[in-house]
Amino acid sequence: MSAPENPRARLLELIVAFRQTQCVRVAVEFGVADQLASGPAASAELAAACGAQEPFLRRLLRALTGLGLLDQDDDGRYRLTMVGEQMRSDRMGPAALFFGCDPVWSAWGGLDHAVRTGERPFDHLYGIRVWEYYAANPDEGGRFDAAMASITGGLAEAVVSSYDFSRYGRVVDVGGGDGTLLAAILRSAPSARGVLFDVPAVVDRAQPALESAGVLDRTDLVSGDFRSAVPPGVDCCVLKWILHDWEDDVCATILRRCREAMTSADGAKLVVVERVLPERVGPEHLDLVLSDLNMTAMTSGRERTEAEFAELFAGAGFRLDRVVPTGTNVSVVEATPV
Ligand code: SAH
Repeated sequence: MSAPENPRARLLELIVAFRQTQCVRVAVEFGVADQLASGPAASAELAAACGAQEPFLRRLLRALTGLGLLDQDDDGRYRLTMVGEQMRSDRMGPAALFFGCDPVWSAWGGLDHAVRTGERPFDHLYGIRVWEYYAANPDEGGRFDAAMASITGGLAEAVVSSYDFSRYGRVVDVGGGDGTLLAAILRSAPSARGVLFDVPAVVDRAQPALESAGVLDRTDLVSGDFRSAVPPGVDCCVLKWILHDWEDDVCATILRRCREAMTSADGAKLVVVERVLPERVGPEHLDLVLSDLNMTAMTSGRERTEAEFAELFAGAGFRLDRVVPTGTNVSVVEATPV
């Protein structure tokens, strides 16, 4: 990377980058993009519609304009840019609330604790592990599901157009969240049946995404703990953003449970969708390495290299076949039971 013209100014941009996170989070919280979706509006109209104090909202709208999320018309009214549109609550809005609010916000504030002690910031702050926390706080659990769905919703088409699921008869999405990826898989594979498997509270909330995608009649909803068992009789086991949540020995348990659930049909596969770290990182891998730190802040997991996936798989009865790029930050890592 070439040296920036003004290194001090470049570092300051990084130091104050948190301000951007909070501008977007507050805009989403007050529904700015949802209101502007129906057309441009002046700050006073928006303040009334959003239940906000106009002098402060006006300043937030200016900041959002500076961030390239809004444009201001000659008459002073604000309109959404194409990126700003994504702040809507049915697009990426839930992701903004997830990253800009607790527990993520505080957990990142505790990153120094992890570096100093090796203890997970989340566990240090909340005294329990993240999955227990979401089970005990269903409203926040629901917000987490919605955030995952919004991010996965932006990747699912790329995954199913890079990897052919139509050769499978029965696909289980293990830890499949609200079903956003499974819905895209089943739409791309019209003769396949699906199983959405997750913890009970998540499966209870999952129906709408599958129903609105028109695949509910081809889907079984099953709840349980993937460390104990995975629904059997499947020829494709999908794990998206599961392994990166867990330490190696739990990953090995989950993989063994997947292995036990898979039929002996020729062509049965494990399909892992994850960010795959390169052996040597550069600035172009920023999302991958920051996601790795996010796993450190929140979970006991981490992002892994292809070699690390291969080793994990080998220990649980799989052989890594190939890593398929999707044109996004996630890859499809395919493995065969051995
Ligand atoms: N696959 C989805 C969700 C990933 S988040 C996506 O990529 O969008 C991790 C998921 O694992 C959550 O939905 C969480 O509820 C689920 N999970 C966590 N612990 C679990 C367990 N013990 N058994 C089954 N699912 C679990």
